[in-house]
Amino acid sequence: MEGALIARDKVGVQDFVLLDSHTSEAAFLNNLRKRYQENLIYTYIGSLLVSVNPYQELDLYTVSQMQLYRGVNFFELPPHLYAIADNAYRVMCNEFNNHFILISGESGAGKTEASKKILQYYAVTCPTTEQLQTVRDRLLLSNPVLEAFGNAKTLRNDNSSRFGKYMDIQFDFKGAPVGGHILSYLIEKSRVVHQNHGERNFHIFYQLLEGGDKDLLCWLGLERNPQKYTYLIQGRCAKVFSINDKNDWKIVRKAFSIIDFTEKDIEHLFGIVASVLHLGNIQFEEDSNGHAIIRDGSQIKWISKLLGAHLSILQEALTNRKIEARSEEVLSPLNVDLAFYARDAVAKAIYGRTFTWLVNKINGSLANQGCFWQDPTPKTVIGLLDIYGFEVLDTNSFEQFCINYCNEKLQQLLIEMTLKAEQEEYELEGIEWEPIPYFNNKIICDLVEQKHKGIISILDEECLRPGEATDLSFLEKLEEKVGDHAHFVTRKLADQKTRKSIDWVDFRLLHYAGEVTYCAVATQFKNSLTSLIEILMSKEPSYIRCIKPNENKEPGKFDDFLIRHQVKYLGLMEHLRVRRAGFAYRRKYELFLQRYKSLCPATWPHWHGPAAEGVERLIKHIGYKPEEYKLGRTKIFIRFPKTLFATEDAFEYR
Ligand code: ADP
Ligand code: MG
Repeated sequence: MEGALIARDKVGVQDFVLLDSHTSEAAFLNNLRKRYQENLIYTYIGSLLVSVNPYQELDLYTVSQMQLYRGVNFFELPPHLYAIADNAYRVMCNEFNNHFILISGESGAGKTEASKKILQYYAVTCPTTEQLQTVRDRLLLSNPVLEAFGNAKTLRNDNSSRFGKYMDIQFDFKGAPVGGHILSYLIEKSRVVHQNHGERNFHIFYQLLEGGDKDLLCWLGLERNPQKYTYLIQGRCAKVFSINDKNDWKIVRKAFSIIDFTEKDIEHLFGIVASVLHLGNIQFEEDSNGHAIIRDGSQIKWISKLLGAHLSILQEALTNRKIEARSEEVLSPLNVDLAFYARDAVAKAIYGRTFTWLVNKINGSLANQGCFWQDPTPKTVIGLLDIYGFEVLDTNSFEQFCINYCNEKLQQLLIEMTLKAEQEEYELEGIEWEPIPYFNNKIICDLVEQKHKGIISILDEECLRPGEATDLSFLEKLEEKVGDHAHFVTRKLADQKTRKSIDWVDFRLLHYAGEVTYCAVATQFKNSLTSLIEILMSKEPSYIRCIKPNENKEPGKFDDFLIRHQVKYLGLMEHLRVRRAGFAYRRKYELFLQRYKSLCPATWPHWHGPAAEGVERLIKHIGYKPEEYKLGRTKIFIRFPKTLFATEDAFEYR
């Protein structure tokens, strides 16, 4: 894919590759800041798009903007999401191959908005038929449903996705979207039972209470007031100014009917949602033997009704533990603390499974709708991956660990693919490859995932010793096995090291106490991540890196400190270095000649020989020095931006 832009913006450069001092972080930030202050939120690094959240509605996403980017060469217009989307689509149609667009960045950086905008772009610009309208609507409407169940207000983002999402859009041979498929990762189940101050549970709970009609709430045994529910009030912000739960409820309800949920499905679904709220209100007290008993039977009755589970089985499950001894099952009563723990575990499990069910159900309705008598299988796909970036919180749970590990893997993938693409292009063009030094984070991935020696293996092993393993014993094991690893540091050292190190330290202090359910999720998660990476490896990549400009969700405010940090751990400088290692700019001979032929009498107005020769004549005439360029088989490679800019200036003032 072509990357560099010919034109400079009035403000800064549109492509970091064209920065004079491409290794300077200060120059990088300067360019990003200048552009942001002019509401130019997009900038390229070659073909990677950097996006800074504007926190205001910009006039960038109209249908006429969409039309503008349709079918236009990547480098001829200002950087935009649509250029990335359109390029992937066009290459897909021309070459019949599969693509993915990876969108990463920290919470609140604009990933989900970007992926929605890309989906809208395809919905508006791709060819469609009346029959396929339904697919289009379903693709679009799967979003509000998934967001209702998978997003929540956090301190960083009022609509934070609490799950990773990979969505394939399937296209037929004509380039019309005919279906889709969603994979979800790591729904943050712990949020169902606990929220930090200033945060909420998943939106759906509040939507149901605010928007659900009287009869529905009555049938579910719910009161409208969220303050009545333990699981909804820990963050002390059930009502949020920026969120209209009532309105969102209407959207979700409508989406359900279009995605083909039956009234029965919906009834069951909300029965489960309500039973989670009832569960949260169950209280336990001690009987004379010190065993937990349920204090008031009203909630459990509702749960029994809504889940269709027998009352006595529910009671037993919440106050006992099942132990398997010599192929016999024995019930052992729980104390009050453990009963609360069991209650929360049930709530999390129910919600987690419901989310999985929901995704499957949506997938059923998105299944390829193409005319099967013409074309039974979709030809090609474009995958959108919207996955949360590195998270560094005050207390980092196992979930954060998984997220950060996932990001390490994706970063590794990016570096590998970029290097590979560069190397391949050089080879193809017959240009000598000069090795590029870069930080290979494979070493960190190995630390996590290696068989027997990696953190996940150690964690799995510890989980096979129920009752014996503790946080401490796990930490000791880690210290013993990976303690001398360069990327594994103790709390004492953490402050002096990079932020990345702090993740690992926090991981060492992770609060997985007793959460055996989590531990089953480690290797499983590793496997699902491995299969995701495999899915991605088989496709052509495009990358969007999202940056959050400030912590206050404020338009126009560019917080240098915060942004420098993201530039670092999004690997942008590293990417720029790799991308710029050899040549800042490359362009097919025909295109280069077409633009600059007027600068040389031999090529103006017409050059009748091969384009490569024309370009050679042209650059000789304007005085390129040998160290400034190389001529490949089909393209000219220019090493420094200033060479290109001089040519461009000569062109403009000719
Ligand atoms: P992430 O998915 O990275 O956590 P979101 O995509 O949910 O972040 O964005 C957080 C918020 O930032 C959005 O709710 C919206 O208010 C704002 N935002 C993000 N991208 C844009 C954009 N391109 N234009 C305007 N506002 C945006
Ligand atoms: Mg999101």
